Amino acid sequence: MASESPGALAIVVSGPSGSGKTTLVKHLMLRYPRSHFSISATTRALRGEEVDGVDYRFLSRDAFIELRDAGGLLEWAEVHGQFYGTPRSEVVPYLQDGRHVFLDIDVQGALSVKEALGDRAFLLFVLPPDMETLEGRLRGRGTDAEAIVALRLRNALDELARLPGFEAVVINRELPAMVEEARGLVEARRRNLAAWLDDGGRDFVREAFGVELAQNN
Ligand code: 5GP
Repeated sequence: MASESPGALAIVVSGPSGSGKTTLVKHLMLRYPRSHFSISATTRALRGEEVDGVDYRFLSRDAFIELRDAGGLLEWAEVHGQFYGTPRSEVVPYLQDGRHVFLDIDVQGALSVKEALGDRAFLLFVLPPDMETLEGRLRGRGTDAEAIVALRLRNALDELARLPGFEAVVINRELPAMVEEARGLVEARRRNLAAWLDDGGRDFVREAFGVELAQNN
């Protein structure tokens, strides 16, 4: 039987869209050359430049349900009427091989991965530095209708409210510093969130984003 390396982690990076989590994952992965990026399965249609097997595994609804019912997914969720899920095969074999696995999935998915993997999962939340930056990133090229931007902002603030379920947090003030901080947390498996919340983090989230975080994790 292959022995499992106790060092390998499923590193789940979540946060509101516009937080810079995807950029963080890319940079962290450069620091861990043996690490693997978990490619999710989805039933939604391929968009623009996306490539099957690179961005997602694009499955028919039947194929997704078959995979799920066979126990092939670590977690799954329905978003806007489409299914998304993390295949076990994208995570478990790599952990067994002693390799870190990075997951860029939503907050709900992150919490489900924690339930499935326990100490083998490390949940890292990326916070934007302030409301202005968050809104600016959500606004993108500036071509979207105000109502769409407002909806994105509401979703982002809903995600932010789930922060207390996470284990570690970084603020995206400046990319290189954030990458180093995140690397330090992963290296030490340092779950800094609870201490950060008590040490002014809760006030920061209230003042910067108007979100009141729940007291208990
Ligand atoms: P999009 O369709 O824009 O690529 O993604 C829509 C939403 O699905 C995003 O919030 C994204 O984080 C989430 N998502 C992508 N992959 C997974 C997954 O494997 N599991 C879960 N729970 N959510 C996912």
